[in-house]
Amino acid sequence: MSDCTFTPSRCHIDLSALVRNFARMGDPANLMPVIKSDAYGHGLMPVAHALDKAGACRFAVGTVSEAAALRREGFSQFIVPLLGALGEDEWREAYANRIVTPICSHEDLAMAAAVCPEGRTFDVVISLETGMGRLGFCRKEVPSLIEALRTHPRLRPVLALSHMACADMPDETDYTTAQQESFTRVTDALREAFPQMARSLNNSAGTLRLPETAFEICRPGIALYGGNPFTGTEWEDEGNDLEWVMSVSSPVLQVRRLMPGQSISYGRIFTAPEEMTVAIVASGYATGFSRALSNNCDILVNGRRCPQIGRICMGMSMVDVSAIGHVEAGDTAWIIGGEPQPGQRVVTAQEIAETLGTISYEVLCLMGSTNPRVYH
Ligand SMILES: *Cc1c(COP(=O)(O)O)cnc(C)c1O
Repeated sequence: MSDCTFTPSRCHIDLSALVRNFARMGDPANLMPVIKSDAYGHGLMPVAHALDKAGACRFAVGTVSEAAALRREGFSQFIVPLLGALGEDEWREAYANRIVTPICSHEDLAMAAAVCPEGRTFDVVISLETGMGRLGFCRKEVPSLIEALRTHPRLRPVLALSHMACADMPDETDYTTAQQESFTRVTDALREAFPQMARSLNNSAGTLRLPETAFEICRPGIALYGGNPFTGTEWEDEGNDLEWVMSVSSPVLQVRRLMPGQSISYGRIFTAPEEMTVAIVASGYATGFSRALSNNCDILVNGRRCPQIGRICMGMSMVDVSAIGHVEAGDTAWIIGGEPQPGQRVVTAQEIAETLGTISYEVLCLMGSTNPRVYH
């Protein structure tokens, strides 16, 4: 860790909004909040502490390393590293820290059994492939899986998990139904052999819309951070009360006049059509403010939306503040979030994602990991 910082921009995390979103997901006893990838850019430890205080009894992270860090921090929750364990050292670390690790193949199963000493037990997750084409056992492998688990009684399969590919898409309900049916069929068979096994299928979209497959545990991710999985679809209202947790501020470095015909920034993609007032803001692509947004997004200054102009640079960008009255160096601009004036809307991670042709998850991960975070 370096003790210097390359930006005066800040990522603000509103932990009370996170906790309110968590409460919207239902009873904590039925939830495993997903805090992988540094809690989608919001910071693993502060998010875990806030959810712990709000009653979270489980966490899903990405790696065994994240899971072990949570243990060292003192968390006693049921923790699942969604990417599984890689190699013998990680399997040992997982066992030593009571990390409930996914088994995705017979090789994983053998490794898990090998690191668990005689006379001890190791709680594990059975990862099932039902339509993502990603990790886990598919349906026809389940009989051999049950067989293998029976020969390794030290391994205790406490959870069966699979992941939805398109539960957020009204046009794909047939596929989602097929995944639900496939998961139900496979877990029925597994639970005949291992009745204590819990089930988890729903992501945020499923948690909000598919109570029929809530089973024992739902795994919301993006919804905790305020992202509505249904934005732009006919189901949009079902996630409308979620609140964004992250906002990103950046100071105005200088305010200058631009004369008609004068260009601004690299490549001269913007030329002033008339006399303008321009604020130079200390946010750029190095802090997740993508250069692909150049000339094509707004920045909130003094609570009002102002058009960004010219190429976004590595650590700076320019914004046309001609319409909004007095702005001076040291004022705060907001890349996402902030306090809007009446009649104004904040810029959201969702809006930026749509302009970029991506999803809010990516914007949050990038801005959250590059801007120094402050917690409120
Ligand atoms: C990321 C992830 C989730 C959470 O998905 P959201 O769409 O953010 O709710 C749940 N389960 C698995 C396996 C994941 O990888």
